[in-house]
Amino acid sequence: MKNVCLLGATGSIGQQVLEVMEQKPLEYKLISIAFGENVESAKKIIEKFNPTFVSAKSKEIANLLKAKYPEIEVGYGNEGIIKAATFEAENPLVINSLVGSVGLLPTVKAIEAGRKILLANKETLVMAGDIISSLAKKHDVSLIPIDSEHSAIFQILLGKNKEDVKRLILTASGGPFRKNKREDLKNVTVNDALNHPNWKMGAKITIDSATMMNKGFEVIEAKYLFDMDLDQIDVIIHPQSIVHSMVEFKDHSILAQLGVSDMRLPIQFALSYPHHETLSLVKPLVLEEVGTLEFEKLDDERFPLVKIAKEAVNKGGLYPAVLNASNEAAVNLFLNGKIAFSKIEEIILEELNQVPSIYNPNLDDILNTDIQIKEKINRKFNR
Ligand code: MG
Repeated sequence: MKNVCLLGATGSIGQQVLEVMEQKPLEYKLISIAFGENVESAKKIIEKFNPTFVSAKSKEIANLLKAKYPEIEVGYGNEGIIKAATFEAENPLVINSLVGSVGLLPTVKAIEAGRKILLANKETLVMAGDIISSLAKKHDVSLIPIDSEHSAIFQILLGKNKEDVKRLILTASGGPFRKNKREDLKNVTVNDALNHPNWKMGAKITIDSATMMNKGFEVIEAKYLFDMDLDQIDVIIHPQSIVHSMVEFKDHSILAQLGVSDMRLPIQFALSYPHHETLSLVKPLVLEEVGTLEFEKLDDERFPLVKIAKEAVNKGGLYPAVLNASNEAAVNLFLNGKIAFSKIEEIILEELNQVPSIYNPNLDDILNTDIQIKEKINRKFNR
């Protein structure tokens, strides 16, 4: 029996993790959760899975839950998330499916506690990839990817030698605006941007997919998860989202992982790895029905954020943290109707032009920069 600490339990990934866990009640027990403000969803989880510890975003929500469920322990805020991430249990497993920079510190604390971590929070590696990699090495902790592209590469590389790899090829659907020209993007609405052709995901990552910032983040994730150089990581447009990613080896052989676009597949593999267990929740992939698989070159002028993400990592220092913070703030403003879609990219570029020069930043530098950049952008646009 594995005791699961689930961060971001009421989010899209969190809910799908619970669906997979429910299929195997004898293998997994939910021991702690952290969530934000979705109280109704949290109540359902508490009543169904009976966790020992629950952390909410605010003290008010925590008190409300404490009154309704006196038998559970409750917490709130950053302290609560960290307690949920490091909750004492036998055979613990941490699943970090938080959205945004709030996921960084709990990952750090879970690594320091020597926990096995299933990582869906990509911002952790974007903001602090160098720190997280060396910390994971130091504590001999493995980070198992939940992202579909990284799960694909993880599956392909099992039993392979890293030295034989020529490059990783991340697939990208191109999102809802793949066929739009840049000038068409000025007037797209929040609903247009939330309408992803292949994947059903949370709001933040869906907007990141529409701008392709998500793919830029995934390049950074791949660099750290698989210890590759940035120039060994390429992105290719694949509108059907059937090939979840590929690896090219030095003999030019390319291996791919295929499946339907359903996050419960990479979630289960992260849980059951190295086994590919039965997963009746997910439909089989019928290639005759898919018919055609297409691949196109990524146009860096049409979607500049992938290239910009690579440049940010090459510059190092606080650049990746600023990239993440400016994107997170801008996406929030767009979702709240405060800025146009095309402004997201502009805000990111503006902030990357004035990054504070700190080399080898520590965790506090990164977390402080995150707060400052977001406050600055909100002061300017959130009226
Ligand atoms: Mg992905």
